[in-house]
Amino acid sequence: MSDVSEILNTPSSAIAPVASSKARPSLVGLTRLEMGDALRAIGVPDREIKMRVGQLWHWIYFQGARSFDAMLNISKAMRVKLEEHYSLDLAEVVSEQISKDGTRKWLIRMLPVDAHDKGAEIECVYIPERHRGTLCVSSQVGCTLTCTFCHTGTQKLVRNLTTQEIVQQLVVARDRIGDFPGMVQPTDGMLPSGEGVRAVSNIVFMGMGEPLYNFDNVCDSIGVMSDGDGLSLSKRRITVSTSGVVPQISALGHEAGTMLAISLHAVRDELRNTLVPLNKKYPLKDLLNACRNYPTLTNARRITFEYVMLKGVNDSPAEARELVRLLKGIPAKINLIPFNPWPGTQYECSDWDTIETFSDIVFNAGYASPVRTPRGRDILAACGQLKSETEKLRARARLALDEEDELED
Ligand code: SAH
Ligand code: SF4
Repeated sequence: MSDVSEILNTPSSAIAPVASSKARPSLVGLTRLEMGDALRAIGVPDREIKMRVGQLWHWIYFQGARSFDAMLNISKAMRVKLEEHYSLDLAEVVSEQISKDGTRKWLIRMLPVDAHDKGAEIECVYIPERHRGTLCVSSQVGCTLTCTFCHTGTQKLVRNLTTQEIVQQLVVARDRIGDFPGMVQPTDGMLPSGEGVRAVSNIVFMGMGEPLYNFDNVCDSIGVMSDGDGLSLSKRRITVSTSGVVPQISALGHEAGTMLAISLHAVRDELRNTLVPLNKKYPLKDLLNACRNYPTLTNARRITFEYVMLKGVNDSPAEARELVRLLKGIPAKINLIPFNPWPGTQYECSDWDTIETFSDIVFNAGYASPVRTPRGRDILAACGQLKSETEKLRARARLALDEEDELED
């Protein structure tokens, strides 16, 4: 049974770009440097660039302005000039699905990157909970890696998303759910509540793609998302998930300073070589060493290890004990992810009892219970029944954020 209660194919009128503005590049999603270049290109003198970027930044990322006319502290002449050359277009929400528990899945068509591009289509999932709202974003269209249990890995067409396309996922989400000052929030779904809680308070890079294969754009997008004068997301609330691109792990810590999640899925090289073929290049020993040396690692900022539960493949008690042994000495959180099947897959999700036994071993070794009963049951109910990406992403993202729950509870 699907719990998707509503399927809307209504692009928000607020975000549908006006036809005449299509050819003008959008400023939404640019970094400060890129915005400065855009202003220079229309003749803004060097001495004014910093101040003008600051103004635009505030309107675009703090206020969520949808028109240059709203930017009241910018002179009329300057606003006209901006309007002539640029737009504030957002990617288009092609369809929206709202689940009973408030989870929203959007199919988003990105703005064309050049005259030949039709605009990449990606999925983005928003998961509201009591005191936080998590947005699951994509870093690539498809993925060049071929993890055998992952649907994305079977997609042929692959390209990196630009910084602008990554940032736009957040701006589109905030626009869609009225998460900018003065906007009206939709009443057709649950949103988080609490003093000062933003509807989108957390980001997980767990959508399509391998973020560390699009390193520069991912880091630049994190810079924009975490900028305190604009979108203002705390880096502690941004998690980057990797299948184990070892040479980039330390750089991620230094340059982006976010939380890290590792898609581990196996405790022996032989099996991990099959499940996550990248392991042949960067085996477990190297991966775990990179984790031990992750720059921001402390007990309060632990690494999340994701472990997808595959029936009869990686789910034995011996493997649970080996997992605990392998992670010894690394401040870690373990997330057991029930496998979500997709058409044509050779794998099945582990039985609930097996997941519980595995989880108990991990719990008894001192890790917070990674599959909590109510949530776990809910996830198990979904596992194998719902094949939509929404379910998959929701399960992943929820589990990845358990660590923060513990810190905040
Ligand atoms: N490429 C990155 C991030 C995107 S995948 C990575 O691999 O980490 C996000 C998470 O979803 C990963 O842990 C991935 O292994 C997991 N995943 C992929 N397919 C899945 C499936 N069918 N069921 C459950 N989890 C899955
Ligand atoms: Fe899927 Fe991540 Fe593997 Fe890519 S790296 S195939 S997105 S699990």
